[in-house]
Amino acid sequence: MSRKKEIESLKIISLKKLKEKAQDIKSKLPQDEQNIISYSKNFTLALSNYCENQCGYCFFNYKVPKLSGEGNVILLDNAQMETLIQKGLQFNCKEALIMSGEHPDSFKEVKDEMEKMGCSDYIEFVKDICTYLLDLNILPHTNIGWLTYEEMKDLKNCNASMGLMLESTSLELFKDGGVHEFSQGKLPKKRIEHIKNAGKLKIPFTTGLLLGIGENLDDRINDLYLIKEMHEEYGHIQEVIIQNFVTKEGITYNPVKPLLIEDMLKITGIARLIFENEIAIQVPPNLIVGHEKDFIEMGIDDFGGISPFTLDYINPENEWPQIDHLGSICAEQGIILKERLPIYEKFITRKEFCPENIKKVIDNIN
Ligand code: SF4
Repeated sequence: MSRKKEIESLKIISLKKLKEKAQDIKSKLPQDEQNIISYSKNFTLALSNYCENQCGYCFFNYKVPKLSGEGNVILLDNAQMETLIQKGLQFNCKEALIMSGEHPDSFKEVKDEMEKMGCSDYIEFVKDICTYLLDLNILPHTNIGWLTYEEMKDLKNCNASMGLMLESTSLELFKDGGVHEFSQGKLPKKRIEHIKNAGKLKIPFTTGLLLGIGENLDDRINDLYLIKEMHEEYGHIQEVIIQNFVTKEGITYNPVKPLLIEDMLKITGIARLIFENEIAIQVPPNLIVGHEKDFIEMGIDDFGGISPFTLDYINPENEWPQIDHLGSICAEQGIILKERLPIYEKFITRKEFCPENIKKVIDNIN
């Protein structure tokens, strides 16, 4: 069947049928994996919210006036970082999500702060943080936006995994008034190159779609196939996040037709059909509150990083659930909520994906 026909046939499957098909796919997993949904206990080091792009839906960017929560961060200093890391250790977090805007070092303010801390190169700065975390038996997962092959190569050996959302490859979003009009870093060719480079470098990788930013159903399905094809070529994609845009005060984007939870469920089910059990499907639990049962029935595998004390900096008004509470919702559906590391089991045993220094930290954690 041609891709176009495949997409047309997926578009018309009802939610009920998608759930049945998803359950059927899940039933092909080994018995002890069928009733598990995983999460990673993590904390976030949001290094800087200076960013070269200006996505219409973004609340994190330093240019968006913050109405509540934490203010702008030019660059997280050592004392702030240490406080967060110590707290992470107290809470027994195994993962540190290292994030920032794209190329914050292109701003003089950030560069000046970095130099005050004795560093002139942003990748070196990130690398030092990762190395420090590894020494404390915390596994870094870095997502600081679009990077070159060499930059990723530099970061590979100090990260358990890395991530970059594909978001959407729709070029409509770059037109006048589109959410990516002022976001050259979101150009599909850059995101695709980054994800492929991660594959060439054998970096266990997380990517995903951001739904409800102006793309349509065809775009979403096309992008799922694109991710599948990249995974077939390099075998490095461990999970795909299906994330919904959530509106908030202070941003410029105001969708004419907001995304419905049914739209989100539909693409989750379609992702299950396309990826089968080869790539894990993750939904952020703080953005689907009240609908967890539906997503469990749609065959999700993972609730992603859940922090006991740091915010979801992208959606600060949507608090992380209590792990116990999420666990009881899962239990009601006969599902066990199980903690995982930021690198999936299937990559831990493969040296090319999990270098010795990372494996040593994993052994120390276990
Ligand atoms: S979504 Fe990411 S890339 Fe876009 S403006 Fe915000 S921080 Fe920058």
